[in-house]
Amino acid sequence: MALNQATAHELSARLQQGEITARQLVEAALDRIGAIDGQINAFISVDPAGALTHADCIDQRRAAGAALGPLAGIPLALKDVLCVRGGRTTCGSKILEHFIAPYDATAVERLRTADAVFIGKTNLDEFAMGSSCENSYFGPTLNPCDPERVPGGSSGGSAAAVAADETILALGSDTGGSVRQPASYCGVVGLKPTYGRVSRYGLIAYASSLDQIGPVTKDVEDAALLLQAIAGHDPRDSTSSTAPVPDYRAALQGDIRGLKVGLAREHFPAALDSEVAAAAQDAANALVDAGAERVDVELPVAGHPEYCISTYYIIAMAEASANLARYDGVKYGYRAEGSTDLQELYLQTRSEGFGTEVKRRIMLGAYALSAGYYDAYYRKAQQVRTLIRQDFARAFASCDVLLSPVAPTTAFRLGEQLDDPLQMYLNDIYTASVNLAGIPAISVPFAHSDLPIGVQLLAPTLEEARLLRTAHVLERAAA
Ligand code: GLN
Repeated sequence: MALNQATAHELSARLQQGEITARQLVEAALDRIGAIDGQINAFISVDPAGALTHADCIDQRRAAGAALGPLAGIPLALKDVLCVRGGRTTCGSKILEHFIAPYDATAVERLRTADAVFIGKTNLDEFAMGSSCENSYFGPTLNPCDPERVPGGSSGGSAAAVAADETILALGSDTGGSVRQPASYCGVVGLKPTYGRVSRYGLIAYASSLDQIGPVTKDVEDAALLLQAIAGHDPRDSTSSTAPVPDYRAALQGDIRGLKVGLAREHFPAALDSEVAAAAQDAANALVDAGAERVDVELPVAGHPEYCISTYYIIAMAEASANLARYDGVKYGYRAEGSTDLQELYLQTRSEGFGTEVKRRIMLGAYALSAGYYDAYYRKAQQVRTLIRQDFARAFASCDVLLSPVAPTTAFRLGEQLDDPLQMYLNDIYTASVNLAGIPAISVPFAHSDLPIGVQLLAPTLEEARLLRTAHVLERAAA
């Protein structure tokens, strides 16, 4: 097996034993990028010189007997919404095409401490708004399993890069499913931690009450390793949790005997794609075979698309309209030429700098927040959000984890849903409610028809260890 096809935990062991060097590993990843990225467009930028220099430095430190971090020498790709000091951070947008981040995101800083090697920034739907990775100013990313299909979104570049063995590890961000859905479409693992588990400092904001950074990896053990490196309190993010970070890798050792796995009736409507439904049911049976107990639960609000999709999109767009107000052509980013007054400068810059979907969302978000409509839309959505939270709390009173599909279908064709925003939004029916409730969830590859099919596991707040342990069992059952 080529080096770039292995997992981080396997490679770490080989690096420590001196069987391979960080330079060889980084070269293998860069070669693969050189060979395939022209076809799948998973990266917006690649940093061969920086990555190789860093790899050499790690090899030298290892040779000198220095203590190294847990991800020493492992190639890692970052979704291009994460700030890396001195590097370009575009958010997949023309408006930030030439933006150079002046500081590191906390997750990035922690990965530096872990001695991971950054190899590049991955493609995404502009400002993480989308479910197909087609809304990027830098062109769409294609699914490495089938280049006529989308990789999912918005972290489609991260998922495609891991699936195509262009990198060993990647980070994505998940506001309504953006780590989990592309992971499912590309056949890799995607974890959305509890809101507040990973600092959002230096993650360029889409919807601040929903955004969370998460690992995209080849297996569950790597997801545990990567979460370990980035989790924990950060005084620079006031929403970051002060709860101690457990040993996630150690948590993989336990079994799941007696674990109660809940399935919600609402998650399996008659119209659901039969392969997707069968994968989730088979996964539930596999957990039962491993000693878990299956229970039926109800999610009367969170399980209904008309409540959770409407609520999610009103809140996400409202927050986006506020967060994206800062791109005005004055302080940084793209500036339209030829304006004669400030108002016109704002107007032209934003008209030219943002893509269609971003503009649609800013307008809808501003509308939902405007006087006269605030009560009917934004306030109502906040009330339904509370009901969604309560739904999950009630479900978790009778089960330890929930199991559901990740998305209603497998990867769809490029262009298929681009003209129908509502259809595109409906991709998020299983994932967006999780962000509204702030709980953790993971997408694990479980079945394969012509395309990969993931299943989703959900756990109560801060129960990532339980989630990873259950996912680990599922992964072995799938193998
Ligand atoms: N597809 C969802 C949206 O467009 C989720 C995106 C995300 O999680 N960043 O908002």
